[in-house]
Amino acid sequence: MKPKVYFKTFGCRTNLFDSQVMMSALSDYEVTEDESQADIVIVNSCTVTNGADVSVRGYINQMDKQGKKLFLTGCGAHTKGESLFGAGKIQGVFGPSEKMKINTLLSRESRFYEIGDLNYIDDAIVDEFVGKSRAFIKIQEGCNFRCSYCIIPFVRGDARSMDEAKILEQVQRLASNGFGEFVLTGTNVGSYGQGEGRNIAELMKKMSLIRGVRRIRVGSLEPIQINESFREILDESWLERHLHIAIQHSSDEMLRLMNRRNRHKSDVELFGMLSEKGFALGTDFIVGHPGESEALWSEAMENIRNLHLTHIHPFTYSKRDGTPSATMKPEVNGAVSAQRMSELNGIIDSNNRRFREKMQNIPLEVLVESFDGEYYTGYDQFFNKIIIRSNEDITGEWITLEHYGVYDEYNMAKF
Ligand code: SF4
Repeated sequence: MKPKVYFKTFGCRTNLFDSQVMMSALSDYEVTEDESQADIVIVNSCTVTNGADVSVRGYINQMDKQGKKLFLTGCGAHTKGESLFGAGKIQGVFGPSEKMKINTLLSRESRFYEIGDLNYIDDAIVDEFVGKSRAFIKIQEGCNFRCSYCIIPFVRGDARSMDEAKILEQVQRLASNGFGEFVLTGTNVGSYGQGEGRNIAELMKKMSLIRGVRRIRVGSLEPIQINESFREILDESWLERHLHIAIQHSSDEMLRLMNRRNRHKSDVELFGMLSEKGFALGTDFIVGHPGESEALWSEAMENIRNLHLTHIHPFTYSKRDGTPSATMKPEVNGAVSAQRMSELNGIIDSNNRRFREKMQNIPLEVLVESFDGEYYTGYDQFFNKIIIRSNEDITGEWITLEHYGVYDEYNMAKF
């Protein structure tokens, strides 16, 4: 009987892709989605904040108490790998560049620490995405930006792009196995092809010609990456009608402190143009970064109303040792950050509802993802959640909904 391996994936979609690659590279082991059944646990870690480190360490302690054989990989291998290895609870630490060797690494007798190459280029191809109805395609790795609160460039390396032929082969393979929706992902996905005469828009056009590709989504773009070539694909039917473009803040003074490349005036122009075209618009926003005074916060909340945002990934600033922001003053206390977070969420939640009401005459193209025993759940082209009642088994199906009700957090329909 093959030993059972469970993958605990923390963090971003790039880690999701990496976990799928490791699952596919196992031949002497059996992958289980049931943690309690596992003999071995692979912790594919995140280290984006001190909080992320605490969650990873907490999980390792919990699994160690259950007697699981533990292996650590992911971004946390670069920042916390040595100390966790030194603590003796981890059988082996390996960097993301070593993941294709996982089948031999797990059978090693002695404990090991192999951090590998920070600037490797991935060329792995997978046939499936266990437990997923959409496929995440890693096209890029690393980042050349230097946002003052961020550790990622130091644990994922410089920006570099996967080979185009490999990416297209990957999409073709997954499309022929039934996947119709593809999410392009990377550390700074919009910098795909930079300095190599390639760009993400050209890649998406080529992907759209592959049989079975129905909808392409893009992970998190930077405002400056919505350039001329990207603007040319905005009306393509295969492009999702939602874009996630990370602004991180809406006060120029805060953007300067965060060493961001975007500024509010150009963000307003960009988001205005995209909203005119009917896009739902999401962003990342950091609340409570040092220096965020009451005055700058009020300015930011005034400004954010000019951006037509319908979705948001808000983060409470969390100090990351080794980043410039970690020594910045004055800090913002937790209670103030929490209050600002709920103010921000309130603004975007009502924007989202208004958007769904405005779009109610547009049929929704929904990929149904799951069934909870009573209702099906899926996401439409605007990346809004929809709850569906149906007597048919529609999990994994593409359906078009013309009639549906708009509720506070989601839309609802019968099929
Ligand atoms: S763009 Fe900024 S926030 Fe994003 S990974 Fe790069 S340095 Fe970090």
